[in-house]
Amino acid sequence: VNSAVDSLRSLFGTEQVLTAADALPFERDWRGQFPGRALAVLRPRSSAELQAMVRASHPLPLIPQGGNTGLVGGSTADASGGELIVSLARLNRVRRLDRLDLQISAEAGCVLATLQQAAAAEGLLLPLSMASEGSCTLGGNLATNAGGTQVLRWGNARELCLGLELVLADGSLLNDLDGLRKDHRGLNLRDLFIGSEGLLGFITAAVMKLVPAPRARVAAWVGLGSMEAVIELLLAAREQLGEQLSGFELMNAEVQALLGSELPVPAATWAVLLELSSSVDAAALGDALAKLLAPSGDAVITQSQAQFERLWALRESIPERQTRAGGNLKHDISLPLSRMADFLAAVEPALQRLVPGLRPQVFGHLGDGNLHFNLAPPAGMSVVQLRAQWGEALTRCVFDSVAAQGGSFSAEHGIGRLRRDELARSLDAERLAWMRRVKRLFDPANRLNPGRVLD
Ligand SMILES: Cc1cc2nc3c(=O)[nH]c(=O)nc-3n(C[C@H](O)[C@H](O)[C@H](O)COP(=O)(O)OP(=O)(O)OC[C@H]3O[C@@H](n4cnc5c(N)ncnc54)[C@H](O)[C@@H]3O)c2cc1C
Repeated sequence: VNSAVDSLRSLFGTEQVLTAADALPFERDWRGQFPGRALAVLRPRSSAELQAMVRASHPLPLIPQGGNTGLVGGSTADASGGELIVSLARLNRVRRLDRLDLQISAEAGCVLATLQQAAAAEGLLLPLSMASEGSCTLGGNLATNAGGTQVLRWGNARELCLGLELVLADGSLLNDLDGLRKDHRGLNLRDLFIGSEGLLGFITAAVMKLVPAPRARVAAWVGLGSMEAVIELLLAAREQLGEQLSGFELMNAEVQALLGSELPVPAATWAVLLELSSSVDAAALGDALAKLLAPSGDAVITQSQAQFERLWALRESIPERQTRAGGNLKHDISLPLSRMADFLAAVEPALQRLVPGLRPQVFGHLGDGNLHFNLAPPAGMSVVQLRAQWGEALTRCVFDSVAAQGGSFSAEHGIGRLRRDELARSLDAERLAWMRRVKRLFDPANRLNPGRVLD
C-alpha cells in the first residue's frame, strides 16, 4: 500500500499527495466527531488531474472532501488508514458569471461565500446560504443537496443547479454544463448526483442559478407563546406577503437562552426570525411586516441593514454557541407543517420520561418543515454521559415520533456514516434495492465513499 502512495507521489508530486502531518487538517471534520486516518490526501488542481488520479489509484477507496463541514461523517476517512481522501479544495475557479443568463459556472472547491460575493459584485444573488458558508464548498453543497436559510423562497441546492461536471469512478468525465433552463434531451442524470454524498462520482464543477439581488430586505424577531401561534403566523405571512417571504426561522426558549443579553425581544416559548425581501423599497416591506405582526406578542422589525445583519448573525451563531455551551445530541428532522404541533406535543413528554430534566434545543428552518432537534443534557450531566447512557434511546424516541407523523429523520444534513443504519432500518426494501443498483451501476468496484450512506 505504501508503494501505491509512493507511486502516486512520483506521478503527481508531493504537493498533490499529502501524507503524515500534512494530511492531519483533512482527517478531522469541523466538529471533530468523525476523525480518521487517511492513507494519503490527494489534491487535484484540475478535473483532468483528478481523472488521472482516480485511474492511477485503482482500486483504493476514495473519499471526496469539500470544506469538511458536513455533519454526518461523510467526508473523512475511517480508522483503517487505508482510504484516500480526495480534497476538491483546489478546484476553486469561477469559470463564468453571466448577468443575462443569470448563472454562475464554478468549480466544486469554490467556497460558498466566495461565490455569493462574486454574484453580489454584479448586483446578483446566489440564493444559497447557511451558517457554514465561509467554509463549505459548492461541490459539498450539491453532494449533500444543502438547504439553509433561503429554501422557503428559492429551494434547496438541487433547485438552484442548472448543470454539473463529474469525474466518475472509472476516471471518465461527464459534462452537463450547458446551463439551459429548459433542456429535455433524455434522462436527467444530474439529479442522481445531487444529494448522492459522493457515492456515485466527484462533482468537479457546476452551473448555479442566480437571481437579481433584492433591493430591500427586512427582518423581524417575534416572541410567541405556542406552536399553534407560530404556525398561524407562518400561514398569515404566506398569505399576506406571498413570494416576499424569504425566511422563517424558529428557536425555542433553550436556544434563546444561549443568546443571552443579545436577545432582541424578551425570551418566549418560541421565537421566530422572519425575513422579507423584494425589489420594492424597504419602507413598503416594513409596513407590510408591521401589519402582519400587529396581533402578535413582542416583536422588533429591523430599521437598517446593520440591524438586519445583526439579527441574522445571532441566528447563525446558534450552532457555535451550542458547541461552546457543552454540545448536544443532534437530529436534523423534517415534518409536514400540518403535523408539527402534534409531533412536539408527543415527543417532548416522551423524552422527559426517558431523561428527566433533558433540555431540547430546538431551532431551524420552520418554513420548510425542518427542525434541528438537538438534546442537551440535564444540569449536572455531560453530553458525553448523555450520549453514552441515553443516546440510542433518545434518538430512537425522536425518530419514531418523527416517523409516526410522516416525517424524515434526515432533512438536510444527509446520511454519511452517522445515519447509515437508520436509512437501512427505515426505508422500504424496494427503495433501498434500487439505490444499491444505482450505486453499483456507477461504481461497480465500490471505491467511492464505501460504507457511507448504503452498506
Ligand atoms: C455551522 C454549520 C452550519 C450548517 N448549516 C447547514 C444548513 O443550514 N443547511 C445545510 O444543508 N447544511 C448545513 N451544514 C452542513 C454542511 O455545511 C453542509 O452539508 C455543506 O453542504 C457541506 O459542504 P462541504 O463542502 O463542507 O462538504 P464536506 O463536508 O466536505 O462533504 C460532505 C459530503 O459530500 C461529499 N462531497 C464533498 N464534496 C464533493 C464533491 N465535490 N463531489 C462529490 N462528493 C462530494 C463528501 O464525501 C461528503 O459525503 C452546516 C454545518 C455547519 C458546521
